[in-house]
Amino acid sequence: MIYIDIMKTKKFCPNCGSTNIKWVIPQNWSMWRCYDCGYYGAVVIEDGEMACEIRKDYLKKHEEKENEK
Ligand SMILES: [Zn+2]
Repeated sequence: MIYIDIMKTKKFCPNCGSTNIKWVIPQNWSMWRCYDCGYYGAVVIEDGEMACEIRKDYLKKHEEKENEK
């Protein structure tokens, strides 16, 4: 279900592929913030397929990290 939701939206976090990002506008500079991984920057992904791959990699890495504990 999560991948279907991603395909429906237009902006994705370049770090974790999440759609849980918000556009913040400080003065005259466009910045995005991801509430999933804490990413903060001007770059966002608009390619849903690319975001899916990033999301899969991110979740995989996250799982591996959890398993190390
Ligand atoms: Zn993120």
